[in-house]
Amino acid sequence: MPDLDRVVKEIAEEMRARADRGAVASYIPELARVDAGAFGLAVVDADGHVAAGGDADTPFSIQSISKVFTLTLALGKFGDRVWQRVGREPSGSPFNSIVQLERERGIPRNPFINAGAIAITDLILSGHQPREVLGEILRFLQFLAGDPSISIDEAVAASEQRTGFRNAALANYMKSFGVMDNPVDFTLGVYFHHCAIAMSCRQLAMAGRFLALSGRNPATGHAVVQAERAKRINAIMLTCGHYDGSGEFAYRVGLPGKSGVGGGILAIAPGKASIAVWSPGLDAAGNSHLGRVALEALTKRLGWSVFGA
Ligand code: GLN
Repeated sequence: MPDLDRVVKEIAEEMRARADRGAVASYIPELARVDAGAFGLAVVDADGHVAAGGDADTPFSIQSISKVFTLTLALGKFGDRVWQRVGREPSGSPFNSIVQLERERGIPRNPFINAGAIAITDLILSGHQPREVLGEILRFLQFLAGDPSISIDEAVAASEQRTGFRNAALANYMKSFGVMDNPVDFTLGVYFHHCAIAMSCRQLAMAGRFLALSGRNPATGHAVVQAERAKRINAIMLTCGHYDGSGEFAYRVGLPGKSGVGGGILAIAPGKASIAVWSPGLDAAGNSHLGRVALEALTKRLGWSVFGA
């Protein structure tokens, strides 16, 4: 078995030397300011050993990766009732697509496209003030990562709040079908803020450990979720975590993964490791280009794909 530390360092060096980086997201103006040359990789294995390379300790905007954690919270609060509000099928459409909502009467195809994540945010907001829910999401991430310093980048949240017309359209459209319980502004405010949580690869890989370890948090020994639920969240990450690039990600990397337009990807090697990678340049589907390339190299060298080899 190749040495994990060495493989991670090698891949970080190889990625920093590459010229093909993709384009940094610019539709959220604040994200366009990020250094396109940054690259970070962190892997936490089943024994808790962390292998890190490149800019693994630089915080970045986790964006849609937050949707894994809001889904986890929603399942904890509402169990299978969550599936009355969102489906769990891949959409085959871009992350911000509206087309399917008309056909399915305001029920988004899955919790990881924007419409689905906004519906999940609306669900966990009910009965609470936006600030309370946001605090709960943030504390959940701090707890999972074992790091109370994790915070929200207010400049990114404000930037998206000013320009998030497409998300406002999705939320209003769902509201028109009567499937949103809270004022649209409240739901969107919480959504934009949880997308604006900033974390480093190391923090994110730590936060994902429970998904690699059958729901257990090794720091406390307690279950964050039941093993079956962790398995199911992984399944949705595999099928829906990269939007209309999910098939390509499964084909090349072979792990459950969730991307964000900040250039991060959280990938889970069940039973083996939680992995976070960050490179801000995106491909046409809005997924980190070098993040995917790095994960493909990692799973190949370590034999970690869930599909074998
Ligand atoms: N906050 C971003 C948006 O709603 C999240 C999208 C993403 O990361 N794919 O557009």
